[in-house]
This record gives sequence, structure tokens and C-alpha cells, in this order.
Amino acid sequence: MRALGVHTSIKNSILNAFEEINNLQCNTFQIFLHSPRVWQIPEFERETIDNFRRLRQTNALNPCIVHASYLINLISSNPKTINSSRFLLKREVLMADALGADYYVIHLKDNASMQKEEIFDKVRIAFKKIEKLETCRILIENTAKSKITASIPDLVETFNNVSTEIVDGICIDTCHLFAAGYDISKKEGILAFKKEFENLADFDLIKLIHLNDSKTPAGSGIDRHEHIGKGYIGTKGFESFLKIKQMSYIPLILETPKKSPQDDIKNLNVVREILRKLES
Ligand SMILES: [Zn+2]
Ligand SMILES: [Zn+2]
Repeated sequence: MRALGVHTSIKNSILNAFEEINNLQCNTFQIFLHSPRVWQIPEFERETIDNFRRLRQTNALNPCIVHASYLINLISSNPKTINSSRFLLKREVLMADALGADYYVIHLKDNASMQKEEIFDKVRIAFKKIEKLETCRILIENTAKSKITASIPDLVETFNNVSTEIVDGICIDTCHLFAAGYDISKKEGILAFKKEFENLADFDLIKLIHLNDSKTPAGSGIDRHEHIGKGYIGTKGFESFLKIKQMSYIPLILETPKKSPQDDIKNLNVVREILRKLES
């Protein structure tokens, strides 16, 4: 069965994620390690780490994904921000690894006043500060607007320039892809994405898909997630996107809006219905 899950809220403890995942009957999940809008990151106790690993095992949740917090900016023009970002990145990645996570997903942002080479240098330095990891690998996510991660050629170029033993894949977010100008609501847009990608890289570089509809039209450059089927990509777009053969085994994580507890269930049901159709 294809891995399908949601970004789960951890509230006060990372162990809280499991109840939500069980209720949603997911076989994979994504979390933040702490509030993504603060620099402070609590130290987890040994017992919490052990319980997390045990619950993840008994619930057979694969892969386990950690999303980087939003403040991390490895290419800021402010050296203080860069230093704090490198420190927090390392803390988060090591913690994700201690929890046995498979992937740590990060957006690299952009800096209009920096050339690509300088950007790549700064990102490489940050990643080099992380020693060997056991299970966890870092994934670079595509973004809605950026000279380094929005278009497929830019994303692949960036990956090729910053990849290391521990930075070894990318995450494709459908909302970001759409906002960046790949109109995957239409067959031609899907074909354009596919062609562009396979000309530059192998599909097995993609380790994760963030499945989100878009509140804004194709090419808007604006990152606003919408419920699956309710945005500009639409159910038909997702049907065609999920049909891409070379990507049919890649885990799916929803990061759709959550105003009520029913929202995740509704979105998961739409995706499950599409997957059922594709399998039959
Ligand atoms: Zn995403
Ligand atoms: Zn987004």
C-alpha cells in the first residue's frame, strides 16, 4: 500500500502525534520537532525518544518525516541569522536522527542580493557542520518562488551543488510546483514537468511528495495551500499527477489547511479515492 499521511500537530509533546495518526489510519507522518516559529528547541528526554521510536515501530509508520522549522535561513544577509540557523539546523537534524526519522525536509528560501555560487557555498557550509547520521537524510523541497528551488532546472542544479552523503534527495510539493508555473491541473502541464525532470535527473531523486492543492493560480509565485480538489489544481489534476508511473511509489504527505478535525479525514478520503481508482 502506498505510504500516505499528514503533517501532524505535536502540541506539547512529540508523542501526541501518534493518537492523531492512528485516528486517521495513516501509515506515514510528518512533524515539526518544536514550535516552528521560535528559535528555542527543547531537549528531549531519553524516555521520550525511546517511546517515540517504540510507537513508531508498533504502528509501522514508514517513512517518518521531520520538517525544518520556518526560521532557519542558511542564506540570510545577516550573519547573526546565518549562525543561529546553522545551529538550529544541526540541532534539529541530530534530534530527528535520534528519533529514527528517515527524512528531514527543508526549504532553502532565497536571497536577491546573493549570486547562486555564494548561496551554494553558504548552504554547503551549513550542511558540513552535521556529522554522520544513522537513519536521517536531508531533502531539499521545491518552493513557489525562488531563483534556486522553484523551477525544476534550478532545483536540480541547487541539489547537485549542495548534495552530500546526508543530503540525498528532494521533496516535490504540488502546490509549490503549480505556483512556480507548472500547471499540473492540465495534462500538458504534467507532461512538461515530467519531461523537464527526466531530462535533468532520475525520478528516484524524489523521496517525498507534499500533496497540497493551491489557493492561487498556476504561476502565481504565491504559496497558499488548499484542500485537495478544492483549489486550482483540482481532483482531475491530482488524478493525472498521481498517475505518473515513475513516481507511483513515492510517499505522500498532506499539508492541507486544518480548521476542524474533520479536514484531514476529508482530504485523506479524496486522495484514497483517487488511489483506489488508479489501482483498479
Ligand atoms: Zn511542503
Ligand atoms: Zn507551502
